[in-house]
Amino acid sequence: MNGKKLNQLKELIYEINDIKMATAVLAWDQETYMPKGGIQDRAEQLSTLNKISHGKFTSSEIGDLIKELKSEIKSIDDESNDVRLIRVLNRTYNKAVKVPASLVAETSKACSIGQQTWIEAKNKSDFSLFKPCLELIIELKKEYAKIFSPYASIYDPLLDDFEPGLKTTDVKKIFNELRPQQVKLIQQIREKKEIDNSFLFREYDIEKQLGLGKDAITKFGFDWDRGRQDKSAHPFSINFGIGDVRITTRLDKNYLPMALFGTLHEAGHAMYEQGISQELRRTPLGHGASLAIHESQSRLWENIIGRSKAFWTYFYPELQKTFPKNLSDISLNNFYKGINKVKSSFIRVEADEATYNLHIMLRLEIEIGLMEGSISVADLPSVWNSKMKEYLGITPKNDADGVLQDIHWAMGAIGYFSTYALGNLVSVQIWEKINQDIPDISSQIEKGEFSALLGWLRKNIYAHGAKFEPQELVQKVTGSKINPAPYVKYLSEKYGEIYSL
Ligand SMILES: [Zn+2]
Repeated sequence: MNGKKLNQLKELIYEINDIKMATAVLAWDQETYMPKGGIQDRAEQLSTLNKISHGKFTSSEIGDLIKELKSEIKSIDDESNDVRLIRVLNRTYNKAVKVPASLVAETSKACSIGQQTWIEAKNKSDFSLFKPCLELIIELKKEYAKIFSPYASIYDPLLDDFEPGLKTTDVKKIFNELRPQQVKLIQQIREKKEIDNSFLFREYDIEKQLGLGKDAITKFGFDWDRGRQDKSAHPFSINFGIGDVRITTRLDKNYLPMALFGTLHEAGHAMYEQGISQELRRTPLGHGASLAIHESQSRLWENIIGRSKAFWTYFYPELQKTFPKNLSDISLNNFYKGINKVKSSFIRVEADEATYNLHIMLRLEIEIGLMEGSISVADLPSVWNSKMKEYLGITPKNDADGVLQDIHWAMGAIGYFSTYALGNLVSVQIWEKINQDIPDISSQIEKGEFSALLGWLRKNIYAHGAKFEPQELVQKVTGSKINPAPYVKYLSEKYGEIYSL
C-alpha cells in the first residue's frame, strides 16, 4: 500500500478523532457537572464541533485517499490493521456522503421536537400527543433508508448503522427461534412461588453503596489510572481515548441493585474500551466492534458474573459486613435468589434476565413493521399492548408504562433496540467458550480471582477494537455466528435451579 498516502489519510483521521473525543468530553461534562445554565451554550458548542468533524470527514480529500488506497488493499493481508481501517473508512465515508445535509437537518429538528413532545406525552400518558412527531420521524427514516436501496428489507440500512453487516432476516431468524422458548420459560416460572426480595428495598447508605461498587470493579480489573466514576441521572460509559474511559452511576438509597449492578454493567463497557490495542488508537478501529458486542461485555460482567452464585460466594461476606443490619438475616442462597427474581414487568430497563429479551423482541417487531408499512403509528398502543400480553402475560394500564416508556424513537434511534438482546446472546456464547478455555473459571471467581478472565477477554475481544464486524468477531471467537441456543440453555439451567423447574 502507498505508505505516503496512507500516512496522509491517517493524519486527517487522527485530527477528526481528536475533535470527536473533545466533543465527548463536553458531552460527559453536560451529564455530570455542568450547571443548568450551561445548556444553550453547550448545545451550540456540540453542534459546531459535530459540524466541523462531519465536514472534515466528508471532504473530497479523504474520499480520494480512501478510493486510491482501497484499490491497493486486495493484495495485502486481509486482517492487517491498515486494510481493516481502509475498509471501515470506505464504508462509513460512503454512508456519510450519500445523506443530504437537508435530510440530516430535518431529522435533527424532528427529533429535537420529538423528544420535547415525548416528555410531555409521557407525563400525561397520552400517546396521541406524540403520534404526529413519530409519524414524521418514521417518514424521515424511510427517506434515509431508501438512499441505500437496493436492500432485502428497508430496515437493513438502519440496523447496519448499529451492527455493521447484520441483516434484518438474520435478526428475525434469531429472535423467532428464541421467543417461544423464553415465553415458555417465564410461563413455567409464573406457576412457581414468588421469590421474596424485599430485603433489597431496605435503606442502604449511598456512600457505602458507591464504595462497594468501586471495590467490585477494582477486583474485576477496572483501571482507575485510565478511568473514573461519577454520578449522573442516567448511567453511561464514555471514552476520550484508550487512556481515559469513564463511567457514571445513579444511586437509590432504597434499592440496592440499581447502583451495584449498574456499576458492574458500565464497568463492563469501560473495560472493553480500556483493553483496546494501542495500535488502533485515534482511529475508528479504536472503539468497540458494535453496540451488540459492547452490550455482550457489559452483560457478561453484570449478569453472567455479577448475578452468579460463584461471584456472591466470594463477595457476599463483604456486602453483609458493609450492611450488617440489612443483611445479617439473609442467607447467601436467599440473596442469590433475590437478585435473580423473575417477574414480568412493564418497564424494559427494570426487567430481569429471563424477561428482558421479550421486551426487545416486541420493539424490534414494531420497528420493522413501522418501516415496512405493516404497522401504522396510529395502531401502536394497541399493537404494543397485545404483544405484551402475548409475550409477558401482562397488559400496561397506560401509555406511559407501555408504548411511551423509551426515549429511543423520539431520538430517531430506530434500529438500535435489537442490539441489547443480541448482546445477551453473544455474552453467553462467549461465556461458553471461556469455560472451555479456562475450565476452573467458576472456582477462580469464587476466590475473587478475575485476572485470567479479563486477560482472556482482552486477548480475544477487547484488543481487536472495531477491526472485525460483529458476526465475524463472534464467529472467530466462538466458532459460530450469533446463535440463541446457548442463551436458552443458560437461562433454563440457571432458572431451573433457582425455581426448581
Ligand atoms: Zn449497556
